[in-house]
Parts: sequence; structure tokens; C-alpha cells
Amino acid sequence: MADEKTTTAAPAARPASTGARRLSSGGPRGDRRPGGPAGAGPRRRGPFRPRRKVCRFCVDKVDHVDFKQVQIIRTFITERGKMLSSRITGNCAKHQRQLSRAVKRARYLALLPFTGS
Ligand SMILES: [Zn+2]
Repeated sequence: MADEKTTTAAPAARPASTGARRLSSGGPRGDRRPGGPAGAGPRRRGPFRPRRKVCRFCVDKVDHVDFKQVQIIRTFITERGKMLSSRITGNCAKHQRQLSRAVKRARYLALLPFTGS
């Protein structure tokens, strides 16, 4: 091939001062996140591991919650006499229903308080 004039276009326009380049670097759209939305993931948050709750009546193989066993029922009510929910105690639905009936019967017979002292 013939030796042509390979005129490499030199970058003629170069800003002389380097200080001017630093000023224009900060743009409004500089924070672009690489990841997607942060909501995707397991529901639980926090450092604590969720513990598996079991129904205490199922463990003891109680087929009927007796309202006369106040010592047992008392562990499922608060200090103020309110019943604890099964989400807190971990009772199954069947035993929670029996427990609620037992608490109400025990309240009526004044074995348990309607409200805290
Ligand atoms: Zn149960």
C-alpha cells in the first residue's frame, strides 16, 4: 500500500487548566443503583431468628381444655385479664377456641378476673 498521509487527528482542543475539570464532575444524576428494588427477599427483618411455636395443648395431648384448670389457663391471659392471641402463644385454632371458651367460663365462675386488679 502507498504511504498515505496518515493524519491522526490529534486532540487539539484540550482544556489547559485541570482545575476546571473538577468543577464540572458533580452532576445531579450521579447516584445510579446497580441493584433492583430492595423489597425482594424474605419477609422477616431484624437480627432475631423466628422460633417455631407449638401449641402447648397439642404437646400435652390435651383433647379438651378444662375451665377448672385455672393454673393452666392463667398462663394464657395477661396481667390485666386479657386473653393472649394465638399468634403470641402459638396455640392451634382448635385449642385456641377451647381456651377462649374455658377463659370465659372461668371468668363467669369468678375463677379468673374479667379485668386486672
Ligand atoms: Zn393444639
